[in-house]
Amino acid sequence: MSSVLAFCLAGQGGVGRNYLGLLGGASRIATALGSETHAALLGSDIDAQGAGQELLAYGADRVFCVNNPLLQEVDSDVYVRVAEQVCRKLQPRLVLFLCDDDGRALAPRLAWRLGTGLTTDCTAFDVEDGVIVALKPVFGGKALARVVCKSQPGIATVRVRSMEALARDEARSGEITVLDDIAVDASWKKVEVLDRVKEEVKGIRLEDAEVVVSGGRGIGGAEEFAALHDLARKLGAGVGASRAAVDEGWVPAGMQVGLTGKMIGPSVYIAVGISGASQHIAGVSNAKNIIAINSDPDAPIFRYARLGVAEDYRTILPALGKALEELMKD
Ligand SMILES: Cc1cc2nc3c(=O)[nH]c(=O)nc-3n(C[C@H](O)[C@H](O)[C@H](O)COP(=O)(O)OP(=O)(O)OC[C@H]3O[C@@H](n4cnc5c(N)ncnc54)[C@H](O)[C@@H]3O)c2cc1C
Repeated sequence: MSSVLAFCLAGQGGVGRNYLGLLGGASRIATALGSETHAALLGSDIDAQGAGQELLAYGADRVFCVNNPLLQEVDSDVYVRVAEQVCRKLQPRLVLFLCDDDGRALAPRLAWRLGTGLTTDCTAFDVEDGVIVALKPVFGGKALARVVCKSQPGIATVRVRSMEALARDEARSGEITVLDDIAVDASWKKVEVLDRVKEEVKGIRLEDAEVVVSGGRGIGGAEEFAALHDLARKLGAGVGASRAAVDEGWVPAGMQVGLTGKMIGPSVYIAVGISGASQHIAGVSNAKNIIAINSDPDAPIFRYARLGVAEDYRTILPALGKALEELMKD
């Protein structure tokens, strides 16, 4: 039976929660096709049964695990050869990767090796008369392209958090298979990781945050960002920024949200002093609710916002912080 195969790249860690969304997307496509959802779990020191059961609970019909010490780092030179063998063995109809650094490095190389097509940065899929149509934002999110891959397997990268995970269901059963006939060879490694420097993140990581407070050029300076951090602490939120704030040197590039920054999908996104350029909005198109604070009532951000306050943020943020403190006292 044909399948939709989601690659879950565990490295040495577990399966990150973004993969559960990828699996949820794979499962919905597979249901529409009348096919199975498969998960390929690649990494080192994986508890195949434990992690596999988790993937079954989130919608996989079958989990295929490749467990090898050489897969400790997600090294694309090694992973791509493993992924190729897995695809040749399982013959999926559609292969999905997360559109993160690892997926972006692997998917095009795998497509070349399999001699097939790749659709990048997809946010949704339709199945029309058995044909898979990938939807991807283009022109900075102003339009959606509908792409059909004519070769098989189609390969696609899926924008992080654009697809909902299925509700966890421990009663879901399926098969967990350890693929021990997949070759992994140390000579494939071309890069040795000598050191890892972790980017210092104040507070919660943007990608994991359910609430994000972001500041733009309207904030007016690096020191003024303290007010956003303060509000974020009260809300248990992450702090992001527009490219203008990054270009001004007020905040590090890792905080940039948008087309050339992070693509995030929080439940609530609070945009402060951000005009709402399409390249910024592209990074928050999966946010469930946008709240805008902008002194210009005609700022485009209000077109995307569920709630908006046309005021100077210097008046609004202290009042909001105070109101939150009052609420939290109760
Ligand atoms: C190829 C390309 C990629 C890009 N990628 C990105 C990206 O990833 N992310 C991104 O953000 N941008 C990106 N940009 C840039 C984007 O086009 C905009 O220039 C940028 O988003 C503008 O940032 P901003 O909204 O902070 O600044 P501005 O557009 O200058 O807006 C500032 C806003 O603050 C408001 N304001 C001013 N003072 C106050 C106050 N006291 N209180 C409340 N509001 C106030 C103003 O009314 C204004 O609306 C990209 C551009 C290109 C060409």
